[in-house]
Amino acid sequence: MAFFGTNGVRGIANEYITPQLAVDVAKSLGTYMGSKGTIAIGRDTRMSGDMLKSAAIAGALSAGLTVIDLGIAPVPAVQYYVRDHADAGMMITASHNPREYNGIKLIAGDGSEFSREGESEVEKIYYSKQFASANWDKTGDLRTASDANEYYIQGIINHVDAQAIREKRFKVVTDTGCGAGSITLPFLLRRLGCEVITINAQLDGTFPWRNPEPTPDVLTELADIVRTTGADMGVAQDGDADRAVFVDENGDFIDDEVLLAMMAKYVLTRNKGIIVTPVSSSRCMADIAEEAGVELILTAVGSINVARKMMETDAVFGGEGNGGLIFPEHQYCRDGGMACAKLLEIIAAGTTLSEFARSVPEYFNSKTKTCCDDLTAIMERVKADVLDGNAEVDTTDGIKIWYDDGWVLIRPSGTEPIIRIFAESKTKAKAEELMLGGLELVEKCK
Ligand code: MG
Repeated sequence: MAFFGTNGVRGIANEYITPQLAVDVAKSLGTYMGSKGTIAIGRDTRMSGDMLKSAAIAGALSAGLTVIDLGIAPVPAVQYYVRDHADAGMMITASHNPREYNGIKLIAGDGSEFSREGESEVEKIYYSKQFASANWDKTGDLRTASDANEYYIQGIINHVDAQAIREKRFKVVTDTGCGAGSITLPFLLRRLGCEVITINAQLDGTFPWRNPEPTPDVLTELADIVRTTGADMGVAQDGDADRAVFVDENGDFIDDEVLLAMMAKYVLTRNKGIIVTPVSSSRCMADIAEEAGVELILTAVGSINVARKMMETDAVFGGEGNGGLIFPEHQYCRDGGMACAKLLEIIAAGTTLSEFARSVPEYFNSKTKTCCDDLTAIMERVKADVLDGNAEVDTTDGIKIWYDDGWVLIRPSGTEPIIRIFAESKTKAKAEELMLGGLELVEKCK
């Protein structure tokens, strides 16, 4: 298993993610950078954040890097800062993972997520333990910067129609889950003229009320407060605030795929161009691209793949169906704060969130997973079987089979010995039928 997973290295803090690991990852990054340059480092609110950040700083200084400590900051704020002020970045976070986790995510000099190639180079150094070690007079300098969050908030305000939003004086309820978004999102909204009601806005790494993953089942309080206060919107973030999910003015959770499609539809009304999503995204995105007469490009799953493809093709919008939206005019990474501000821009034009959500085509999903020993061999057999027929197939990531009335995606997990099967169609029954067909195919190939 790769050292760096889909979102950096993660595990239980002080068990797997130890100070020694943080020192060594930072030394590896410093070695990879040739002991030259400046990195910015931030952390989310997890209990072990100070411990791991201190260790990572020591490692980077030992390798000869200059380090700028940004303190607690959302990952998109660190990325935005790195893009303009540093040569690379480190974020101490386990994003949406449970309380006891922590991890390290590397950030490239342009503020995007570190490339897979870069990560595997750093990983090689990590395992070889052949770290660059600066001479006593070349060990790095440590500085602190207290303006990263302000710089980030201003960046968002500059990239939305702030005037139109301010005029509406929206009422917004936030649930930042005691994570890093607590020190940016409420203040961003206030600067956009909103009346802000906050819950879970204290910085508390024990996450006393809910785990950092903002799933609908833990957002009932948010929904209730939206309803009882007559707010225009409710917004919740994960622990490092690169993702945001929403409830509409009725307190109803907006499905992630619907959110992605809503935003694509809105962006395309103002700026026609390529849009990018992973192969796992809803057919809805294809409908919206078709309606606007633009190209939709599908990538392998993972926001890094979406972001890189957007850069390559100069796309106008992209994102994943998990609340991770990417606005290239702002920065090439998922940004929950920016997503929230953009959504306010949409409703400032005179529609409500529920109305706008209903304006995108509706689809139904069905998914399952099955345990498998030899993922590669099974996937090869599934592929051979599928390619034998005359179905339309996409093998960007896993095997996606298109049908007239839906699709099924068969995809091996990157971290567990399981194959996941996703299906989507215009009706719940059809989606289930397609999912079962996919499952049958995998079972046959075992
Ligand atoms: Mg996250």
